[in-house]
Amino acid sequence: MTVEICTVGGYGEIGRNMTAIKVDDEVIICDMGIHLENYIRFTEDEDISKFTKEELIAENAVPDISVIKGWKNMVKAVIPTHAHLDHIGAIPFLSDEFRAPILCTPFSAAVVKAILKDEKIRIKNRIIEVNPNSRYTISDNITIEFINITHSTPQTVMVAIHTKYGAIIYANDFKFDMSPVLGQKANIERLKELGKEGVLCLIVDSTYAYDARKMPSESVAKQMLKDVMLGTDAKGKAILITTFSSHLARLKTIIELGKKLKRKIIFLGRSLSKYVNAGEDIGIIKFKKDIELVGYGNKIEKRLNKIEDKDRGKYLIVLTGHQGEPKAVLSKIAAGKMNFKLKPEDHVIFSCATIPTETNIENRKKLEEMLKQSKVRIFKDIHVSGHAAREDLRDLFNFTRPEHIIPAHGEKFMTEALKDLAEEMGFSKVHLVDDGEFLTIQK
Ligand SMILES: [Zn+2]
Repeated sequence: MTVEICTVGGYGEIGRNMTAIKVDDEVIICDMGIHLENYIRFTEDEDISKFTKEELIAENAVPDISVIKGWKNMVKAVIPTHAHLDHIGAIPFLSDEFRAPILCTPFSAAVVKAILKDEKIRIKNRIIEVNPNSRYTISDNITIEFINITHSTPQTVMVAIHTKYGAIIYANDFKFDMSPVLGQKANIERLKELGKEGVLCLIVDSTYAYDARKMPSESVAKQMLKDVMLGTDAKGKAILITTFSSHLARLKTIIELGKKLKRKIIFLGRSLSKYVNAGEDIGIIKFKKDIELVGYGNKIEKRLNKIEDKDRGKYLIVLTGHQGEPKAVLSKIAAGKMNFKLKPEDHVIFSCATIPTETNIENRKKLEEMLKQSKVRIFKDIHVSGHAAREDLRDLFNFTRPEHIIPAHGEKFMTEALKDLAEEMGFSKVHLVDDGEFLTIQK
């Protein structure tokens, strides 16, 4: 038997996720993402732009696909698990290298198509939509199952690759949310069944393996936002709130609370527009009846111009810039580059965590310094993560009982923490690997 796994990217780092799984002479690729920090450092833009794949590989901004050169003609499918850029963002640059369709959920497909359209990039790969909790047959020997799972963007799936050697589960970016705010709860029943059927290998998210807790549900984040938005006095003050544009569940909560406050809700920013439109297009959200969505630069400026000073307390302004990105709307407002001026005790809510990279930490520091000069009230970390913590990972191991475990999606200390947990639970075949390694998996 031959099951071989190439850990192309995302091992020992967070970003540029990509794993190639070879079953006899057929290869499935899971995820094709960018390394956001390296990507932005090189392109100076958060949006996908036109660079060659060679340039981007050299900058470690996308996975180095040269390692699987020998497998190129065997690739049968490229499967991004969800719509985050560290999982889909390299598709415009790399997917053309493989004569294979892209299989993903409708929301991920809508986001991939929006990126390609925005940047006028064409790819030859057919994009096939597969619903969460359904299957797709690749060949006589391989069937793909999309297991509905919860994360911080809609229609995230765990991928089970069914082979005659057992199932290989690719479980990057998930948490077990049993009371989600949008979409279905995590399908743990199916994971338990798979455990009984036999799991050959589990490739798994290590991000918070060191964090001894269960990651709280998105409904907890909803309660946190409710406390801040309904439980503080903002009469006559503007409320500005920023979060991840792809986090439609969080945005749904923000809209609900904005309606309770009887404020006019406006969404400002290009990436907000992209993800909201993708969700509306496939019918999983209906935000547009309650909000005004303004995507682009001068239109944003014009819209802000229309807010009269006496009416600032009637608005809830949802905007991009949660990581302090200098080009995002919040930073521009804070820097006084927009006609809308902040006033003392206006509310600025960060419904996010700072993703701890050097650039983000520095950008956020600068942004908060500027905000403090305006004497606004700052509410930070009104957020719960979309990643499993140690006790969720323990559940996943107990449900699936895999023969082999490959810790993924994390820096060394994260993957090592996952290995510790697995070994504590009696799993002996845990493989710590770097980018570009090959592992042969045997029963
Ligand atoms: Zn993600």
